[in-house]
Amino acid sequence: MSSIDSFTAAFEGLRQGFESGRTAHAYLVVGSPRGNALALAESFLELLFCSAKNRPCGECAGCARVRSHEHPDIIWLHPESKSRRISIEQIREILSPRMAQTSYEGGWKAGVLVHADRMTDGAANAFLKTLEEPPGRSVLLLLSDAPQHLLPTIVSRCQRVVLGGGADEETGEWVAPLLEILRSGPPAGPLEARLQAGLLKSLLDAVKEGAAADVEKKGGAEEDEEVMEARIAARVVEVRSDIMRAILLWKRDVLLKVLRMDDRYLHFQAEREAVGRQADGLTYAQALADLRAVEIMISRLERNLPPEAVFGVGLANRIPA
Ligand SMILES: [Zn+2]
Repeated sequence: MSSIDSFTAAFEGLRQGFESGRTAHAYLVVGSPRGNALALAESFLELLFCSAKNRPCGECAGCARVRSHEHPDIIWLHPESKSRRISIEQIREILSPRMAQTSYEGGWKAGVLVHADRMTDGAANAFLKTLEEPPGRSVLLLLSDAPQHLLPTIVSRCQRVVLGGGADEETGEWVAPLLEILRSGPPAGPLEARLQAGLLKSLLDAVKEGAAADVEKKGGAEEDEEVMEARIAARVVEVRSDIMRAILLWKRDVLLKVLRMDDRYLHFQAEREAVGRQADGLTYAQALADLRAVEIMISRLERNLPPEAVFGVGLANRIPA
């Protein structure tokens, strides 16, 4: 199932539950907490807080406040920036009291835990109490790409929604630097093209180093060198194809924007503004050519052409020779 299909299927499941009055008290959304899982949470919350007849409309004040994370009846909890954990104070002082109060607007109340698996033990136990005594018309959404780190007692109380794609392959060390490169957009000239190709090349070098460290750690001392080399090479190819897939999905998002498709179909939800800027003024033919260029890069890499040459040509495809 493609990532679009699994997203649509998951959303339809939530919608049907909502429309037949069977919305669960808590959902565990397994996917990328800043990507597809976040997007699903936002779409679902729009459904709850939309004031239009055909929900979610994506345009009313309710939908807009969901998207901007400014709705007074939705509590968003993120890991704290220093510890990178969700603390017991965040649960006890922010989430639990708000969930126990009546909603400000007389409708639903919702709590969203972004990276729910990063709750400290104390936070998880405090959260369990809220989970065990759910107030009426309230829903908790736990977003996680590492649900194995959640307490089984929490998992068992949540309805599980698993999104395909984007969960595992987009959590690597390479994601942030790659997004940085993609955000900067197609190169405006040969110099920029060379710079981007260089950045991609150094990203791949870092991947190679990481793979070597990984393989050595797991392999132990008894493995012979040839086996190790083969494992490292295999790991590099694996990560490289994840990277290429991500680039392809980015270009596909740009194409969807050019076609004015609804944002909820975008793979990189959190990047919708950057994607939108790149789509601005682009024709359908150009966007399609960009997507094709990445496909060509992928097939060249699969034929073992040197990555630096492939990237140099691939990213510069829109520059007049
Ligand atoms: Zn609406």
